[in-house]
Amino acid sequence: MYIQLNKKRIVFVSLFALLIVSCANLKTVVFKTPVDTKTKKIHEQIKKTYVLQDMQVFASNEFDGAHLKGFEKVNDSTIKVIIAPENTPINNSAYYSFKAWAKENRTIYFQFNYPKGYQHRYPPKLKMVGSANWTVLSEDNIFKNGKITTAKIHLTKEPIFISAQEIVSSTDTYNWVASLIKGKENYVHYNNAGKSRLGKKLPVLDIYRGDKKQKPIVVLLTRQHPPEVTGFFAYQEFLKTILNESNLSTNFLKKYRVLAFPILNPDGVDLGHWRHNAGGVDTNRDWSEYNQPEIRQVVRYITNASKKDQGRIVLGLDFHSTYEDVFYTNKIRKETRLPTFINKWFAALEANIPNYKVNEKAGNSTKPVSKGWFLYGQKAVGITYEIGDKTPRDKIKLVGKVTSEEMMKILINVNNN
Ligand SMILES: [Zn+2]
Repeated sequence: MYIQLNKKRIVFVSLFALLIVSCANLKTVVFKTPVDTKTKKIHEQIKKTYVLQDMQVFASNEFDGAHLKGFEKVNDSTIKVIIAPENTPINNSAYYSFKAWAKENRTIYFQFNYPKGYQHRYPPKLKMVGSANWTVLSEDNIFKNGKITTAKIHLTKEPIFISAQEIVSSTDTYNWVASLIKGKENYVHYNNAGKSRLGKKLPVLDIYRGDKKQKPIVVLLTRQHPPEVTGFFAYQEFLKTILNESNLSTNFLKKYRVLAFPILNPDGVDLGHWRHNAGGVDTNRDWSEYNQPEIRQVVRYITNASKKDQGRIVLGLDFHSTYEDVFYTNKIRKETRLPTFINKWFAALEANIPNYKVNEKAGNSTKPVSKGWFLYGQKAVGITYEIGDKTPRDKIKLVGKVTSEEMMKILINVNNN
C-alpha cells in the first residue's frame, strides 16, 4: 500500500489523500510498516502473599501496579525474585514491583530472575508502605555477576515496596486529576473517552476558555507504556503549568483548546505490565487500525471534538520514558500546521533551562505510533516526548514546566487563520 515517491511532499499528500480509508466511522491511517495489533493472550501473575516459612520472610503482589511472578528461597540469606513479561515479543522494560517484610529485622539478597533474552534494567526504588517518599537503592547495594543482578535490602516487620519505578496506579492517577482540576471546572471539562478492556476509565480533560468553536487543538497523551512514569512526571508538570492561571495560561487557553489524556493504558498499569495492555498489545503500535479499545476510543474522542467544533489538531505530544531524555520528531515539517514550531521550541528550551541541550532524534514514523498518526492523519506536529528512566525527579519537574511555558508562548504568537 505504501507508495514510494521521491518528493517528500508528494509522499505526504499521497499518504494523506490516498491511504486514509474509512473504517467503522474512524479514518484509519496507513503506515509503511504495519504491525499486527489484534488481541493476544497474556500470562497474568497470580495475586498472592508468598510465605517463606523457614526464613520467616514474606512478599506480596496484592496491589495495583504490582509485578511478581515467583518468590523462592535460594539459601539462608538469598531469595530469587521471578519476573516475566505479560507476553512476547516485548521490549526489555523489565518491570517488577512487590512488597516484602520479615518477622525479625534481617538483610536479604534479592536475586532478580528474568526469562532468557531479558535483563535487569531498573535499580530498585524503595518506600515503606504508608510513607510518601521513594528512595533509590544505592549502587553499593546492587551487585552484578554476569547476567544476574542482586540487591541487598534490609527488611523489617513493616512492609516495604521494592519497585522498578515509583508506583503510580490508575487510582493514583484519577485522584491526581481530581485534585488538579478542583476549582477550575469553569474551563477544565472532565470527560471520559470510554473504558479500557477491563472497564477502567479513560479520562480526558477538555480545556479551553470561552467558546471552543474553531480553536486549534493540542493533544497530550501519556502512560501507553506502564512502567514509563518519568514521562508521566513530566506530563504532570506540563499540564499543571497549563492550568496555573498565569496570564500566559489564560491567554493561551483563550486561543487554544487542550485535550489531555492522563492514562491511556490503565489496565496495563494496574496489572504491572512491562509494556502492553490487557489485550497483550503495544498500544503505541495501534494508531493505524485501532484494534484495541483504548486507542479506538481516544481517537474517536479526538476526531469528534475536532470535527464537531471545527478545530484543527495542530500539535500532539505523547509522554514516555526511555534510557535518556530525547524528543522523537518527524522530519516532515513544512506540510504540517505548525511548520516552525519544533525549531522555535527547542531553541527556547535551551535558552530557558540552565545547562540544557535538546536531544532530538528525527525520523518520519514508519510504524503506527501516535507521532505518525498526528502527522499523516492530522497534518499536525507529533512528538514523542521521552524522559530518561534515571533523570533526577527535580530536573523532570523543571523540564516539564519550561517545555509547557515555551510551547504556550510560541503558539500564542502563531497566526492560525
Ligand atoms: Zn514508551
